[in-house]
Amino acid sequence: MWLMSLGDSTDAIAVRVPGKINLELVVGPVREDGFHEVSTILQAVSVYDRVTVSTADRWSVHVTGPYADRVPADDSNIALVAAKTLARRRPRRGKLEPVRIDIDKNIPVAGGMAGGSANAAATLLACRELWQLDHVDNDLLEQVAAGIGSDVPFLLHGGTAIASGRGEQVTPVLGRGELHWVLWVGEGLGLSTPDVYAECDRLRDEAGLEPPAPQPSEELMTALRRMDADEVAAALRNDLQEAAVSLEPRLREVLEAGVELGARAALVSGSGPTVAFLTGSQAEAIDLSVGLAANGPTGDIVRAIGPVPGAQVVQHTRTP
Ligand code: ATP
Repeated sequence: MWLMSLGDSTDAIAVRVPGKINLELVVGPVREDGFHEVSTILQAVSVYDRVTVSTADRWSVHVTGPYADRVPADDSNIALVAAKTLARRRPRRGKLEPVRIDIDKNIPVAGGMAGGSANAAATLLACRELWQLDHVDNDLLEQVAAGIGSDVPFLLHGGTAIASGRGEQVTPVLGRGELHWVLWVGEGLGLSTPDVYAECDRLRDEAGLEPPAPQPSEELMTALRRMDADEVAAALRNDLQEAAVSLEPRLREVLEAGVELGARAALVSGSGPTVAFLTGSQAEAIDLSVGLAANGPTGDIVRAIGPVPGAQVVQHTRTP
């Protein structure tokens, strides 16, 4: 939604971008490059960061909001990396036009919700508008996005989608209706993504299990077409969950608490430690979040609906 009309002397573009949860994560065999082959179904959910990109004399990034203290405000910030990467795609050579990036951070950090990738997607969209890169169509923007991080193309799309390859192949899953989620965000539970994958391999070796073929399940795809909470609940799957619980046993308590308090299903999102609880309605989600806040393990409780659209420009401001 544009709040001001576009023109030549625009200065600041604000983009709203959601986080994601994994409804399915199938971890296949290890590839030659050391990464696992995965197939995942992602859903964008209504927990949003707001990223504002404005013209400036030098490159900088500034972070505010509840999770700001966990985000680097230097060159390692992935939003800044995204802006500089897109700047190299500008048609005219010469001095790059720097930007200031302001991130209002509400998506939990390092929680498996791809908050960094969300900020990169938002920044790409904002910079394309700000620099008026008319030659960068959506396909090219997605190509640039894929080079920055595996979830960045998905967060340009949003909705529900199968992501394959390195995440750059995004295939929408069409469905009607919405799902009501309650998210539990733990403080101080440190789970690194490579450690969780390594633990998944270790547990499979120990049990003599072969990795599955990385394919999306028909059962979940069918359930998502109707967005029926019970059908979706029965089909959710995360191959990393056992490994995440093995490394961080307190997650088991969280998963069990949610189910005891009425969740239709409980699932670690991605490599965790965020836990997603599926409920059947807004009323159920409110009841569950109240129950978890009162009686559940310590952590932030966030209600969210999904699917929601990906990064969207919400404001375009011009300073005289
Ligand atoms: P994923 O679901 O893709 O594994 P995540 O949700 O676990 O991601 P992020 O919130 O994206 O993790 O952050 C991972 C790390 O990236 C953080 O610990 C932080 O230091 C770094 N980082 C760099 N830029 C950002 C950013 N703009 N927002 C959040 N984290 C960032």
